[in-house]
Amino acid sequence: MALKIVADLCTACGDCEPECPTTSIKAKKGVYVIDAESCTECEGDFDKPQCVKLCPIDDCIIPLAA
Ligand code: SF4
Ligand code: SF4
Repeated sequence: MALKIVADLCTACGDCEPECPTTSIKAKKGVYVIDAESCTECEGDFDKPQCVKLCPIDDCIIPLAA
């Protein structure tokens, strides 16, 4: 399972990037993206996805399948 960043909502503030335990978040073409191959939804590291917890924008980071 993985999450994704909604590009239209991401302000590229960068707050999420250094907090990802799997270094799955990278800047790309002016926004941030999550590598679905390595995102674990923080399972085993944190109770809740750290990027969702840190992102100041509501619904900017959502399940990949949604
Ligand atoms: S859910 Fe966790 S592992 Fe996935 S991108 Fe966010 S911080 Fe990284
Ligand atoms: S914290 Fe949210 S708005 Fe900021 S770079 Fe990450 S996804 Fe984009």
